[in-house]
Amino acid sequence: MRLILGLGGNLDDPPAAFQGALDALGRFVRVVTVSSLYRSDPIGPPQPRYWNMAALLEIAVPPVELLDRCQELEAAAGRDRSREVLWGPRPLDLDLLLAEGIIVLGARLILPHPRLLERPFALVPAAEAAPDLLHPLADRTLAELAAGPHPGLVRVGPLHG
Ligand code: AMP
Repeated sequence: MRLILGLGGNLDDPPAAFQGALDALGRFVRVVTVSSLYRSDPIGPPQPRYWNMAALLEIAVPPVELLDRCQELEAAAGRDRSREVLWGPRPLDLDLLLAEGIIVLGARLILPHPRLLERPFALVPAAEAAPDLLHPLADRTLAELAAGPHPGLVRVGPLHG
């Protein structure tokens, strides 16, 4: 199954955390393509600008198992959910954005991610990694959904710039 993972962070060294997370995930899923790195303005309380990127994964496990691995990686990157404020700064945030052809409404996992369409910092990198992927609720491709000017979102370059 093809699945888009969104990566974000704004503390410590997010590009290094992204590389570490992709390397770790690569041991049990296939990382097919990765987007460029982006910078975006924060939402929520005042905090540093974010780094963002997305990766197209080919997974053979249920998406909720991938969520388990992602939450372990967030914790390993120094994220402490018990001390976090809503939408506050974090070294590594991993979101499952969309899985091809399926809708999930679980207690722990909702797919497509409920805020994907209103967040250019997730949608634009996702569309770069997998422009042809169909959003199963909007029934349009990521490239179509990501079109338009996005002030506040800057494409920086490849992860290994
Ligand atoms: P966040 O603090 O933004 O990383 O949100 C994490 C919480 O959202 C966890 O409790 C997850 O179980 C839940 N969640 C629901 N859907 C998703 C998704 N598509 N990707 C990541 N986390 C999700």
